[in-house]
Amino acid sequence: MNSFTPFQIGPFTCTPIDAGDIWLDGGAMFGVVPYTLWSKAIEHDERLRIPMTMRCLLIESSHTGHRYLIDNGIGTKYDAKKCDIYGIPYGADPLMESLTQAGVDPSEITHMVFSHLHFDHCGGTTAWDSAGTKLEHRFPNAQFVVNERHWAEANSPNARETASFLRDNIAPIGESGRLVTVQDNYEFEPGFDVLNIDGHTIGQQLPRLSDDSHTVIYAADLFPTVHHVPVPWVMGYDMRPTVTLTEKAQLCATSVQQEWIWFMEHDAHHVFMTIQQDDRGRYKGVPLGASELPF
Ligand SMILES: [Zn+2]
Repeated sequence: MNSFTPFQIGPFTCTPIDAGDIWLDGGAMFGVVPYTLWSKAIEHDERLRIPMTMRCLLIESSHTGHRYLIDNGIGTKYDAKKCDIYGIPYGADPLMESLTQAGVDPSEITHMVFSHLHFDHCGGTTAWDSAGTKLEHRFPNAQFVVNERHWAEANSPNARETASFLRDNIAPIGESGRLVTVQDNYEFEPGFDVLNIDGHTIGQQLPRLSDDSHTVIYAADLFPTVHHVPVPWVMGYDMRPTVTLTEKAQLCATSVQQEWIWFMEHDAHHVFMTIQQDDRGRYKGVPLGASELPF
């Protein structure tokens, strides 16, 4: 269990929440980048999987009193075989442990904000009851906030994306009576909005927090690790890789100009990074330790 120090930006107290580690196929994570290159950037195990994590973000607003949680990991619904595939300990529940450690009860979450609804981002919404027959909600009072274009996509996915949208995850969200679908670039409150991008999946939303001098943006699946910042290093999982190329180039340029700080959801080793551009115009992710944060 990782423990994290909260950080403050404007009226928002932000606490990283640990929803556990996950091991994913290195080849799929780096798309067309050959093994000889990606294996120098990051370690892998004997099954050619790389270590990743599922780092959610709790945002408590002193302005509205809202408690937002960004994503909730893969959850606890997998059997032992599935857990082995993803290298997650069977029977563990790191999300709830981490929320407890942060001093928050799941019933106090007012908004579950989903970057998108792939299985490793929304699996923690529900869990099987003790008999293993019925799905129970774990955030009984939260609104479920999803981009409206993404909600449509998640409910009629193409054949390549269908394995990422699991019925046991999506259906209870739709049937909860608490689903709120929002338009692009939605603003929750002053200083907290989202940016939308379509390369990884239609309508992915990147939550962004800003005050007068700083911007922190949740990387979600745009930059799963700091090694994914160079523009051609695009995941094989992306539905529209050429769209990702354009989105990365644009967001990298803005990030350099405005000195954004990226909060890394999946990078097992780095919680924060900035983006720098070298004299040949290439972008790279530069990890930032908690003590190096400018706020
Ligand atoms: Zn995804």
